[in-house]
Amino acid sequence: MDQKLTKPYDPTTTEGRIYETWEKSGYFQPEADRPWADNPKTNPNFGKTFTIIMPPPNANGHLHAGHALFITMEDIMTRYKRMQGYKALWVPGADHAGFETQIVYEKKLEKEGRSRFGMEAKDLYDEIYAFTMEHKKYMEAEVRAVGASCDWSREKFTLDKDVIEKTQTTFKKMYDDGLVYRGKRIINWCTKHQTSLSDVETEFKEKKEPFYYFKYGPFTIGTSRPETKFGDKYVVMHPADTRYQEYTHGQQIDLEWINGPITATVIKDEAIDMEFGTGVMTITPWHDAVDFDIAQRHNLDKEPIIDFKGRLLPIAGEFAGLKIAEARPKIVEKLQAKGLLEKIDENYLHNVKVCYKCETTIEPQIKEQWFVKMKPLAAKAIEAVNENKIKFIPDNYRKIFLYWMENTLDWNISRQIVWGISIPAKICDACSDGTPDLDNTITTCKTCGGEMRADTDTFDTWFSSGQWPQLVLGYPEGKDFETYHPTDVMETGHDLIFKWVPRMVIFGLYLTGQIPFHTVYMHGLVNDAQGKKMSKSKGNVVNPIEIASKYGMDALRMGLVIGNPPGSDSALAENKIKGYKNFANKVWNISRFILESTEGINFDGNFSAFTPADQSLKQELADLLVDITSDMDNYRFHLAAEKLYHYTWHRLADEIIEDSKNILKGEDVVAKNSRAQFLHFALRQVLKSLHPFMPFLTEELWGIINPGGSLLIIEPWPHL
Ligand SMILES: [Zn+2]
Ligand SMILES: [Zn+2]
Repeated sequence: MDQKLTKPYDPTTTEGRIYETWEKSGYFQPEADRPWADNPKTNPNFGKTFTIIMPPPNANGHLHAGHALFITMEDIMTRYKRMQGYKALWVPGADHAGFETQIVYEKKLEKEGRSRFGMEAKDLYDEIYAFTMEHKKYMEAEVRAVGASCDWSREKFTLDKDVIEKTQTTFKKMYDDGLVYRGKRIINWCTKHQTSLSDVETEFKEKKEPFYYFKYGPFTIGTSRPETKFGDKYVVMHPADTRYQEYTHGQQIDLEWINGPITATVIKDEAIDMEFGTGVMTITPWHDAVDFDIAQRHNLDKEPIIDFKGRLLPIAGEFAGLKIAEARPKIVEKLQAKGLLEKIDENYLHNVKVCYKCETTIEPQIKEQWFVKMKPLAAKAIEAVNENKIKFIPDNYRKIFLYWMENTLDWNISRQIVWGISIPAKICDACSDGTPDLDNTITTCKTCGGEMRADTDTFDTWFSSGQWPQLVLGYPEGKDFETYHPTDVMETGHDLIFKWVPRMVIFGLYLTGQIPFHTVYMHGLVNDAQGKKMSKSKGNVVNPIEIASKYGMDALRMGLVIGNPPGSDSALAENKIKGYKNFANKVWNISRFILESTEGINFDGNFSAFTPADQSLKQELADLLVDITSDMDNYRFHLAAEKLYHYTWHRLADEIIEDSKNILKGEDVVAKNSRAQFLHFALRQVLKSLHPFMPFLTEELWGIINPGGSLLIIEPWPHL
């Protein structure tokens, strides 16, 4: 018997060695030679492919428990399909994580007493690039540590040269197809980060703020933002509001306002909520999305009141240059002194849009940006899902996906950050014209003849990651694209049902006419032992690599899978993982017992001459494996793992092995041979079927029971 088995199982000396063996073997690549799988006679799935594109982890960070979960899930799927005879391809990646990384780097600059404002864009880009490349190695080492059987030879970074070029080409193509336009529209602006943000990069936070009622000519208007009211010269009410029927649309009224007399124009619009405040409001189209729409409908003037740093502009008169927080009480004071303040409701609760990173209140601004026309693209995605070309696991995400697509707005893809893929376009400041320019040849404006400058903005990171399945597979040319697209499963966190999944479906259909994947598998959040969301500020973050170094990666993987059905959040408790370390030891000890106690018993090795008792044990195991295979095929990995755990420990170890002790020591040679054969047989099936879940332990044991044989990673899945 192998000397290793006489000692307890030690994951720390095993896992790195086993991973290296796999990586060197080339079996992570779907093209690797596997005699049984390369033969249609021995492989029922001969010639079939199975592809997963890994959601690329952030290159500058460490893995968190959520990463460990998705790597485990995708590895289970890939290993299972590989053992089923598929050409299984799992492509790893690394994400430059635009805005996120730039924020990390800005904090680093801050610590060094520097700031990105005032740095040359190229210098900043080069610095962040070097920083990210340095950190990417750590992330990759951690993905390996989890046991990912992904094909590193195909790894893609989101800022690889070909990724950049192809993303830029898509932009030009969409512009030519009328799906990208340059527009002066209202956007979400973070005054701290000095960039626009997409809706998914903002959050709502409940705030209690005073709500003011002011006299505005014959009306009373309500607002929580008096500082935006300087330019308000339109007073809007619902056309059906009988309280104001004496006023007509377009009527002009002279009235006294903050900085003197003004002429206000009455506008009737159905967007006004008659129940809110007094049913009358003035509008600030430059700084409010609803007001912007009203102004667009009636072709009204729009004037900026607040600059991009969050300070009042000269239109505010004596308040110009003040920050909003300073200006607000002063403006209220002045209106009060003029007798225009009616009342203040101090307990006004409302949701305020904030930057998802710094929680600064979003200042809507009108800005020239590039937009994607979403409606026609979303229509195709809706059609594909309605035709059941894409399956969601769990199924309720289908509805969420459709709702999101049916209510989509045009997408602002311009970002004022340097860390990303630059937008290949030329801008004319004189007339606001913008034209894509892939080869950098345009110098004069086609509209006004003015000089064009290069757009300094970068793409929203979801613009390139939306094309990730195609970019990774070398679209539009190349063998990988032909062979592996559409891919099979997109396994990702359920929060990405908004941000990422719809964009991938849209780009897949737009670029290739194909869906990018036929199954979307959504995993939930990994919370702490008490079920609370992990966060650095709460200090309850479980580092997956740290915990695995204590209990073994296989134990962590089991802990992440069992009890965790798709889509639901899970609680990661150390005790649970410790329990699976005990299970790993149990499997180790079972193997030792079987090898030890059958040494010297001669059996022919073809597992045929079973006694009726062993025949029924074999049938029981065969039934279990059929059941588990069905769970695996239907993405019920949590059940498959639990059934295997239960069988191995409570049936094989506790009952069958206990019962075998007397038989193996007994005089009945037939029974002895038969039981020895059965135990070897059962051990092989257990190791094979546990392999996707506990790859390190099972590979190590396979090598011990099969010295000189092939690796477990390419063994066929048990078919009994
Ligand atoms: Zn911010
Ligand atoms: Zn021009």
